[in-house]
Amino acid sequence: MPNDRYDRLIAALRQQADLAGALRLLEWDQETFMPAGALASRARQIGTLSALLHEQQTAPAFLELVDGLAADTAALSPSALVDVCETKWRLDRKRRLDTALVRERSELHAQARGVWIDARRDDDFGALAPFLERIVQTERRVARLIDADRDPYDVLLEAYEPGATTATVAPLFQRLRDTLVPLVAQLGDGRVSAARGTLCGSFPIDTQRAFNRAVAAQVGFDFSRGRLDEAAHPFTTTIGNDVWLTTRYDPADLRYALYSTLHETGHGLYEQGLDPAARGTPMGTSCSLGIHESQSRLWENQVGRSAAFWRWLLPLARRAFPQLAATSVDAAVRAVNGARPSLIRTEADEITYNLHIILRFELETALIDGSLTVSALPAVWNEKMREYLGITPETDREGVLQDVHWASGAIGYFPTYALGNVYAAHLLIAAEAALGAIDVPIAAGEFAVLLDWLRTHIHRVGQTYRAPALMQAVTGHAPTAEPLLAHLQRKIELLKDR
Ligand code: ZN
Repeated sequence: MPNDRYDRLIAALRQQADLAGALRLLEWDQETFMPAGALASRARQIGTLSALLHEQQTAPAFLELVDGLAADTAALSPSALVDVCETKWRLDRKRRLDTALVRERSELHAQARGVWIDARRDDDFGALAPFLERIVQTERRVARLIDADRDPYDVLLEAYEPGATTATVAPLFQRLRDTLVPLVAQLGDGRVSAARGTLCGSFPIDTQRAFNRAVAAQVGFDFSRGRLDEAAHPFTTTIGNDVWLTTRYDPADLRYALYSTLHETGHGLYEQGLDPAARGTPMGTSCSLGIHESQSRLWENQVGRSAAFWRWLLPLARRAFPQLAATSVDAAVRAVNGARPSLIRTEADEITYNLHIILRFELETALIDGSLTVSALPAVWNEKMREYLGITPETDREGVLQDVHWASGAIGYFPTYALGNVYAAHLLIAAEAALGAIDVPIAAGEFAVLLDWLRTHIHRVGQTYRAPALMQAVTGHAPTAEPLLAHLQRKIELLKDR
C-alpha cells in the first residue's frame, strides 16, 4: 500500500534528520565553545555519526523504498509527491558516484582546505594550484557521472541551487555587471561615503550582546527555540526545533555585530518558519542556498540599512549607548550604507558585493569548461578586479586566495550569494505589492507584517518549488536584475543628495 510506504519514508527521513541535527550540534560546538583538547575526540565522534548517517542514506532497504515510491506516484498527495521526488533526485545524484570516488573527493577537499590555510598565510598560490587542478578535474568527473548529457557546470550548480542553469544565471549576472561597473566607478570620488566616525567609538561588548539580542527578538527571532552566540565566522545552524545563530563583536564599531546579527537572524527566521510538522523532510526543508541567502540579505540590507529601520532602531541604540544622543537617523543611515571598491568579498558593501560574485562565477565556469587554466587564475582574477572594481590586489592573499570555497571543492556555490540579493529585491517588491509600503510598520518596529508574508510565501512551502519556480509563483515572473539594480541605484542617489 503506497501510504504505508510513504509513512516509512518519512520515518526514515526523520531518523536521518535526527542524526544530521546531532552532527550539526557537534560541529557548532567545535566552532564555538569546544576546549582545544577535545579536537581529536570530537572529530572522531563527528566521523562516527557521519558514517552512521551515510549508512542509513545508502541502505538497500531505504533505496528500494524511495525507488518503489517514485515508480508509482499516482496515489501520492501533492506534498507527498514533493517529498518523494526531491528525495529521489538527491539520492540519484549520490548513487551515480561510486564509493571510491566519494572517498577520494572528500579526502582531496580536506587536504586542499589545509593547504589553502597555509597558502593564504604565505601568499603562495603555487602551493594550492596542484590541488585546485585536481579539484577541477574531479568536479568535471563528478558532473559527467551525475549527468553526462548536460553542461557540467549546471550539474554542479544544481547541488546548491536546484533549478538554476548557466543559461538563466549568466545573462542575469551580465546585466548586473554591465550596470554596476560604471556605477561603482563613481564611488571612488567620495560623493557616496560613510559619515566618518558615526556608529564608531566605544561600545562595551556586554551591552552590545544585549542590544543585538533585543534587535533579533524584535525582528521576530524566537529565543524560546533559539540562541545567539559568538563565532569567528558567523553562521546559523538548525539542531532540531531550535535554531542557533552566531555573530561577532567589535567593541569599536557598532555596525560590525549588528549587520552580522541581522544577516544570521534572516537565516534563522527562515529555519524557524519552516513547517514543524514536516521537519526533516523536503517539505520542511529550505528551498535552496539562494533562497536562504535572500532571507538573510532581505533583513540585513533591504530592511536593516533603510531609513525606516533606523527611525525605529536609533532610540533603542541611544538607550543602550548614550554616546549616540547626538547621532541623527540620516548620519546613521549614511554610516551603514557607505560604499567603495574593496578587495575582500566578505567585507564588501551592498553595492560592490555582487561584482565580487560575478567575477568568481565567470572564473569558475571557465575553469570547468576548460577555457581557463588554474595557472592563469591569479592573473585573470586581478585583471577582472581592475576591470570591474578599478582596483588590483597586490597579493594573491587579497585576491584569488581569499575564499575557502574552491579549495573545499565548492564550485557552483558562489552564484547563490548574488542570486540571494536578486531574489531579496524581488521579494520586497512583491511583499509591498501585497501589503502596501512597509516603511511605516518598520519605522514603528512592527516586523511581523513582513515576516508573516515571508512565512506564508517562502518559509512554509519548503521545497514545493525549486528556486526559479518559487520566484515565479511569488512574484509573477522570472527573476531579473532590475529590482536589485533599482534598489542600489536609489541608494546611491539618496546618499548623494544629502
Ligand atoms: Zn548568509
